[in-house]
Amino acid sequence: MQSLLEKHWHHMPPEEVADLLDVDSEKGLDRFETENRQERFGPNLISSKKSKTPLQRFMLQFHQPLVYILIVAGIVTALLGEWVDCAVILAVVLVNAVVGYFQESKAVKALNALAATMKVEATVIRCGVSRKVDAAELVPGDLVVLRSGDKVPADLRIFDSKELRIDESTLTGESVPVEKGREPVAHDTVLAEKSSMAFAGSLVSYGQATGIVVSTGNNTEIGRISGMIGAAQELETPLTRKISKFSHTLLIAILILAGATFVLGMLRSEPLAEVFMAAVAMAVGAIPEGLPAAVTVILALGVSRMASRRAIVRKLTAVETLGGTTVICSDKTGTLTENQMTVQEIYGGGSYYAVSGSGYGFSGEITAEATAVPMKENRALLETLRAGLLCNDAEIYEKEGKPAIEGDPTEAALVVSAAKFGLFREKENEALPRTDELPFESQWQYMATLHQSDKGAVIYLKGAVEKVLERCSEVMLADGSTAPVDERAVYGVQEHMAAKGQRVLAIACKSYEGGESLDRDQVSRGMTLVGLQGMIDPPREEAKVAIAACRDAGVSVRMITGDHASTAEAVGLMLGLGGDGCTVGRDCPVMTGQDIAALTDEELVIKVEGVPVFARVSPEQKLRLVMALQERGEVCAMTGDGVNDAPALKQADIGIAMGISGTEAAKEAADMVLTDDNFSTIESAVEEGRGVFANLVKFIAWTLPTNAGEGLVILTAMLFGAALPILPVQILWINMTTAAFLGMMLAFEPKEPGIMQHPPRRPDRPILDKVIIRRVAMVSFLLLISAFGLFGWEKYAGADLAKARTMAVNVFVIVESFYLFSSRSFNRSPFALGFMTNPWVPGGVLLMFLLQLLFTYAPFMNTLFSSAPIDLLDWMKVFGCGLAVFLIVEADKKRVGSDV
Ligand code: ATP
Repeated sequence: MQSLLEKHWHHMPPEEVADLLDVDSEKGLDRFETENRQERFGPNLISSKKSKTPLQRFMLQFHQPLVYILIVAGIVTALLGEWVDCAVILAVVLVNAVVGYFQESKAVKALNALAATMKVEATVIRCGVSRKVDAAELVPGDLVVLRSGDKVPADLRIFDSKELRIDESTLTGESVPVEKGREPVAHDTVLAEKSSMAFAGSLVSYGQATGIVVSTGNNTEIGRISGMIGAAQELETPLTRKISKFSHTLLIAILILAGATFVLGMLRSEPLAEVFMAAVAMAVGAIPEGLPAAVTVILALGVSRMASRRAIVRKLTAVETLGGTTVICSDKTGTLTENQMTVQEIYGGGSYYAVSGSGYGFSGEITAEATAVPMKENRALLETLRAGLLCNDAEIYEKEGKPAIEGDPTEAALVVSAAKFGLFREKENEALPRTDELPFESQWQYMATLHQSDKGAVIYLKGAVEKVLERCSEVMLADGSTAPVDERAVYGVQEHMAAKGQRVLAIACKSYEGGESLDRDQVSRGMTLVGLQGMIDPPREEAKVAIAACRDAGVSVRMITGDHASTAEAVGLMLGLGGDGCTVGRDCPVMTGQDIAALTDEELVIKVEGVPVFARVSPEQKLRLVMALQERGEVCAMTGDGVNDAPALKQADIGIAMGISGTEAAKEAADMVLTDDNFSTIESAVEEGRGVFANLVKFIAWTLPTNAGEGLVILTAMLFGAALPILPVQILWINMTTAAFLGMMLAFEPKEPGIMQHPPRRPDRPILDKVIIRRVAMVSFLLLISAFGLFGWEKYAGADLAKARTMAVNVFVIVESFYLFSSRSFNRSPFALGFMTNPWVPGGVLLMFLLQLLFTYAPFMNTLFSSAPIDLLDWMKVFGCGLAVFLIVEADKKRVGSDV
């Protein structure tokens, strides 16, 4: 291995590299050698550099304002000789750190597990056959094929290339893609200029190539320089940041209040120990410190839920943004449609032919229309089908008794139509072997191949009608002769097919005398149009339903496609885009890439309003569209699969890549990846996002009254010079146990019915709106009255302090338990929801009650928390408070109705 590392691959001719690595430069490695090398070199994986050790992560749990306060409190209680209090406080600090550590690890683990499912694939040639494998299986000597959009899977010495450009920004920081080729470079060339090498982790932005793997895993440049990049999962989102900022502001306010409490007590010349305890109680009670952690856990849970619905979230932020999505811009092919292309109509030599059958099976036939030239006499038809078959990289094979394809479905459809005519790849290839090609790139919208034969060389070209037509001067007639091309007539044929929702490909040819290689110049003019093929790609049934659901939810769906305007319009109509009172093509017109190009950015912002379909849009225009929509204040989700879609995906609020058909470049840029490429998955993810957000708000609305109530109780006690109704350690008990056993249960709350029946929340809307803030204030106040009231009553009745305080603590816990049932919905009663629709809530409440019994009756708890047993009547009073709060909140729901 060491000897391999030291080679200067970039400097050697590629054939020498192949010799040294003992690989056949056409057939690749054989099975035996592959297995042998896999054993010798291990998997092609970069071991992640652990960003923080578990100990470091554990220690970080102590780096929180609340913990600082608690530690100070612990030290002072020790100085005051309150050993039990000191021990409890320090134990709480420890428990808090342990719980925090495990919660965080679980969230990180869940996200990492999802990231690991997103394997990078590589196309490798072994035993002469090209196939896709997991990039981890690559070994030095493997022959790898690169195409635009691929992530380079290992360090490669380029063997052969065509217009290859690679984005090496992850490695060199250079953001402009660099040209690469097979020519060796000087011995001492710096990394950024080694143009004969493709390095692991970089992205192919254009062209294609084959290369020989020279190093894998940690021996690659990226592996040696930086370890695994992008492995660390970001647990911070704008929401958690907002919440921790809110907690910090609150912390300062509360510290001031605590200081004031202290000064007030001192002025009243109350005992120092008591005054100090009151100040500490105020500080620990009123700060909702557990909030950011709980929010992260709820978001991470949302990530797993979305994964189970086939949406893999790559960034935690996406979960919260999804809920607020107002516009979804979706690709057509494969996302809104099945991506199951079938040629239905062919035009050649002035006649139309219908093609029967569907899918990729060869059964079906081509029949001439009544007035058409008989099929076997039509040379143009023959050439249309032959060129479609040869200017084509798709393979059809049998998988589990059914036809399956490898490659582009558009091309597979052309293989099938040729087969229905009796033309097959092997035989045609033999007569016309391919010597060069210009692969399909969506920015050019065509593909061309060069073939040799005894009668000379011929170029075949296929692509979008406009692109092909602008290169043609002649058209082939049925008898094989040619005539000047009549563009209007050809566009008429295209319209005829596109109006039925067909994707139309024009096909052309040209004889060629320039040798064995091909460049774009040679296909720029002088071609002969031979015919057109129209293929249908049925809309996905589930996409229709999902589009309607989005409409009900106030989320507008825009279809953005590279296809022709008429095809897009027909498909848009079939899918029900546009919606109420707006029929695609009639009331809401299709906007084309040309229209977009003619508009300034400012004009585009105005014109995009209400346009449901954008056709012949280039990836760069997708970026302009996202920006225009965002300028309108929309929260924009955008799908993409190609390498050029990356900027639009990055710009969108939610960039969505396709898991099956998407390039690695698109996946890297995306916030979310759909494992099934299906539009309806986006709709489900939006629904999940809304559910997660709703649960977050419910959790916050449930937890805040505890803190506010505790703060109010202490403040009131200080103002009236009364004894503290709850002690700092008791506050810690309440906060720790209720958050874990009650509050977290709201994370499991199922989505409320009708969650997709109201408009999305605007991004500028505060997390808590007026109605919720009022409810939080109301419950806080009710907690104050109940806790302070019962405490005062007990004291008045002559009960000792410990018992009165136990009553107050139980009031907090029981009221919060009742309020938990109410918090499951802001406007529905738990009776309407059904108590067992979230069994975690009654389960948590029961557990919490058992803990409270322990708190109240277990002697060791009495010692630790200064609690004391209470009797049945006392419990009835406590439950009375809980029930009263429950009824008041439920009455408030009725009054407010469905405003929240
Ligand atoms: P969507 O944006 O709806 O997903 P798309 O991404 O499939 O559509 P492109 O792939 O950019 O759109 O295709 C644009 C046009 O290029 C098509 O309308 C078709 O005419 C032509 N085209 C598509 N695939 C090929 C191909 N393999 N070879 C030649 N031309 C093609």
